[in-house]
This record gives sequence, structure tokens and C-alpha cells, in this order.
Amino acid sequence: MHSPYILYSDGNGNIFEDTSLYVTGRTGWDAIAIPEDEWIELPEGGQLYELPGRRGIGIDVETGDMRLCEKGWAVAAFIPPAHTGFYLAAYEAAPNAPTLPLFCYTAAGWEDDKFYVPAIRIEQDIRQNSSGYNEDTVTVGVQKLLEAYPHNRLVEHLANNCALTYKCPAARNFFIGRWECPIPSSPACNANCLGCISFQPEEETIVSTQDRLTFKPTAHEIVEYTVPHLETAPYPIVSFGQGCEGEPLLMWQTIREAIVEIRKHTSKGSININTNGSMPKAVKALCEVGLDSIRVSLNSVRKHVYDPYYCPNNYKFEDIIESLKVMNSFGGWTSINYFVFPGMTDSVEEYEALRKVIRETGLKMIQWRNFNIDPDWYLSKINITDTGEALGIKQLMELIHEEFPEVKFGYFNPPMERIKGDFKLDFAHH
Ligand code: SF4
Repeated sequence: MHSPYILYSDGNGNIFEDTSLYVTGRTGWDAIAIPEDEWIELPEGGQLYELPGRRGIGIDVETGDMRLCEKGWAVAAFIPPAHTGFYLAAYEAAPNAPTLPLFCYTAAGWEDDKFYVPAIRIEQDIRQNSSGYNEDTVTVGVQKLLEAYPHNRLVEHLANNCALTYKCPAARNFFIGRWECPIPSSPACNANCLGCISFQPEEETIVSTQDRLTFKPTAHEIVEYTVPHLETAPYPIVSFGQGCEGEPLLMWQTIREAIVEIRKHTSKGSININTNGSMPKAVKALCEVGLDSIRVSLNSVRKHVYDPYYCPNNYKFEDIIESLKVMNSFGGWTSINYFVFPGMTDSVEEYEALRKVIRETGLKMIQWRNFNIDPDWYLSKINITDTGEALGIKQLMELIHEEFPEVKFGYFNPPMERIKGDFKLDFAHH
């Protein structure tokens, strides 16, 4: 079997295959042939993007030489949640090519009337499967809960901004009354991530995919809608730290007050926080009142790669490692939200650093997330000209699984039923 054929667009949103070229994949700054066993059909919910000002890199079917596809713009795939990409789209960008928006750009090809991507379904949980959402059900749920909580600013924000405007899967699941429910709480952040999805500086050409929360919710506003969700939803989780806010740990006193109040009313479900992990003392205070799970987001477990991306204010890389250790010392669930960038995440240096972090922190889970960022822009901004020797994302996963079989792989925060029970829950009958 050969690699699928390369795709190109006519610049008007029409996509074609070029059967004179096999598609290649990108790792770091390099284009390579993708191993045959790493392709899957583009999963349902996946989308294809044309990349203006960029020419795809392919392998000539006749000569085997690498050359550009001059027929049109390069094409990449946005693969749906629960799937992790093994290679980026490989292309050559013209000097004046516009910076790409904050999405992931996985390699994509065409074969036998199907689109293919080098990726894996890393998570069996179906909570964000596109086929699982019915617009009418969401709208009815929004009406019902807006009427139930007429004075709750958070429910109003989750309804009109998150569910109906941003189409946030977590907010939509809340209004359908199932699974993970979001609790945005912080209008501010103590980091300045280059690829922040809730705030982008004026001078940047890219825009954030949602606006940051503009108010500080009260503990009462949080408790009012989360207790009924924990009491009634299947596999219930309530999660602080969402894409439409800054850093939740900056609101730890309010969060602590809310957790105390929630646990007075219900012992059900998991209380989780998605965070940059910057304040281990705040994490300790939340663990003391019953925080069940923490997910720390990071682009790398190497300080010299982390710092130029996160641009931390008043905290240091070591603090995020300490937050994982604190949560582990309370017996809580610890995950990293690992922004996967082929060539960087699977570099030998990163692999060695990841092994060290797993050993030191007792990490329970790696959520292998596709990094939503323009690859050239990212590597230039963090001054990486040589990404070093790479293992391949697939092989990296196999090596980590072999050495640390107890470390779970996935894409979403697990419910208590997976944390305490059988991690391989039969999601088909969710
Ligand atoms: S930690 Fe989150 S909210 Fe803060 S800058 Fe980074 S992405 Fe944005």
C-alpha cells in the first residue's frame, strides 16, 4: 500500500486530489513519508482546511522525489476530539503567507474516494462525538435552565455565549443534562500563552476563538446549577477551568467556598479543575475540601520550551510539577493536558523529561491533545530552529505505555466511575 494522494484547494474552498503526488507528513521542521500503518479514515466530525499562501509537499509517484504541489493551496485536517494526530500537514509557506488561526493542522490525503489522516482514536468516551448532539435538544435545555436560574450570570453565559454561540461541547452537554459540566470562574490569568484561546493581544493578527469571561461568579452562582447536575447527570463531572476564562486558581477562595457547599449537598460525581497548575498552595487548599481531580495544561515538560510559550507571571515551571505532586499526595486524580506537536512532543529530549515527570509526580493520565496553533508561527515564536531527533508520536505512546502501563491515555477528564471503577467503561451504552 502506498501513502494516500496529496490534496490541494483552488482557493475557493474546493478541494481536489493530485494523483501525481503521495502526501507527506510534517514533524518539527521536516516533511517525511508517513508509515502505512498510521493512517485512518478521517473520523466523523473532522473538517478539511485550505491553507492560504502554502504549497503542499508530496512525493512524486514516478520518481519518489519530494516536490511541491503547484496546483493549489495546501490542505490540512482538523481532526475531531478524542483523536490524536501523528503528523502535521507538510507545506512550504510563501513569505507573506497569513498566520493560521488557532486550530490543529493534521496531514490529510485521499485514496479510494476517502479522506485519510495519520491519527488514532485515543479516547473511547463518546461525550464530544459530533453525532451525539441534537440542536433542538440543546435549545430546549437552554430555555429550561435559563428559566430555572433566572438570576444566575454563569448559566446565562454558558447558555448564550458557550452553548449557542461558541458551540462548546461541554456547555451543550450541560444543557442536555449529561456528563461533564463547565464552571468558568476567572476573568484574569497569570500566564500569557502565545496560543491563548480566550485572549489575544491587539498586535497579533490571530484572534482568540472565544471571549474571556468578564465577571467573577459567586460561590452561590456556582453551587446553584452544579449540585443538580451532579445529582442527576449520568457519569457526572463538574469542571473549573474552561476555554472561555483565564486561570481558575486565581479564584481559589471562591472555588473552595463552592466545593465546601457542593459537598454539603451531594457526594456524587467528580469535582475537577483544568488549570495551568501555577499555584500549588491553592491546589492544597482545594484538595483539603474535596477537589477530586486536576488537569494541568502544558505544551512541554521542558522548562526552556514551556516558558517561552506560557510566559508565566509570578510563577515558575517547577510550580506546575509541584501542583501535580500535591494532588497526588491527597490521592486525587492527576492528568496532564498535553498539547501534542509532532517533532517536539516526541523528541528524545521531551520523552526523557516526560518519563521523569511521570515518576516524580505519580501522574495518572495523559490527555493527548492536538495543539491548535500555526506550526511555523509557534516554532518561530519559541525560537526553535532544530527540534532534534524524534521518535514518532505513535512510538512515543507505545514506549510510555510499555514503561508505565498504569498511566491512562485519553482526551477527556474521567468520571468517578472510571477513576474508582473500571477505566474501560463500555461507552457504547453510556
Ligand atoms: S493559561 Fe489558559 S487562559 Fe491563561 S493565557 Fe494560557 S491559555 Fe490563556
